Amino acid sequence: MGATFAVPNKPRKPKNIILMIGDGTGLVHLYAAYTAKGGQLNIYDYAKALGLSITASFDDYITDSAAGATAISTGKKTRNGMIGMDPDSSTLKTLFEEAFEKGISTGAVVTCELPHATPASFYAHQPSRKMYSQIAADMTLNPAASILIGGGLPYFDTLALKKAGYTVSIGTEAMERNQGKRQVCFTDTLKEPLPAPLRGPTLQKGSMHAIRHLSKNKKGFLLMIEGSQIDWGAHNNDSAHTIAEAIDFDNAAGEVLKWAQKDRNTLVIITADHECGGLTLHGYDKTRNRPVMHFSSGHHTAEPVPVYAYGPGSEDFCGVYQNTEIYNKMIRLLGL
Ligand SMILES: [Zn+2]
Repeated sequence: MGATFAVPNKPRKPKNIILMIGDGTGLVHLYAAYTAKGGQLNIYDYAKALGLSITASFDDYITDSAAGATAISTGKKTRNGMIGMDPDSSTLKTLFEEAFEKGISTGAVVTCELPHATPASFYAHQPSRKMYSQIAADMTLNPAASILIGGGLPYFDTLALKKAGYTVSIGTEAMERNQGKRQVCFTDTLKEPLPAPLRGPTLQKGSMHAIRHLSKNKKGFLLMIEGSQIDWGAHNNDSAHTIAEAIDFDNAAGEVLKWAQKDRNTLVIITADHECGGLTLHGYDKTRNRPVMHFSSGHHTAEPVPVYAYGPGSEDFCGVYQNTEIYNKMIRLLGL
């Protein structure tokens, strides 16, 4: 009797990609959430492949969120502050715009205002992230977006959104009833959404609403989900806010990964644009049930960030590479 050998599985290509970005979320931010959750994290439970992304921008050792997201959305390093443009201010086509041209649907769900740097870098092209009204106008007129969920209603012209074919809703309940072919679902009427846990599970509910909407397209979809405020907690060296946001992000990831497990055709990539706060953990605080957290900075750092991947194509994300490779890997896997 000869030994039996396992036939190597032919690498499968994903039909859909869900890209989850924890803004400012290094290795330690998620481990802090794991500790505060009593030793469990959905991202750790599901991750099948782990890599490291080097986040430096075109002009700086330390990136900002605009250059960081533009690297992932376009495959090009640019100057800090620039949105969907190369260092010479030429417009770059984003992955989402390329996918849309091939009949693939795209969307974004965030816990910041929609014209903020990360979501903007997938749907807008402006020389400065501060140009909120121009970015909001770009997002309104960009045909690639099928669904946008987040805050920042005061920056948008709702009549222009309706004219562009969007069904606009405000609040989580209205979002869940929104059946529009194209949707903009504002989570509230504020300029900037509330912090976790005050705002409620808008990221989790928004992510699942977006997946239900986008998965109607038989050709597939791309969805970007951002835990936007992990970065804000870290900038403020606010341990409680940083942990609450990291747990909120992991809660959304848990629902997304459970859906992807059933779907079997979806690659989930979970990463960050950069680290923020130079966070280290110095022990366990029993009275607060959380780690003792020390921030060495109020800004971003140069630390490479983890890339967790689950689903068909996840093995491509092992290794150490530049953030622009995340774009190249997605393009290759989708055959774009
Ligand atoms: Zn930041």
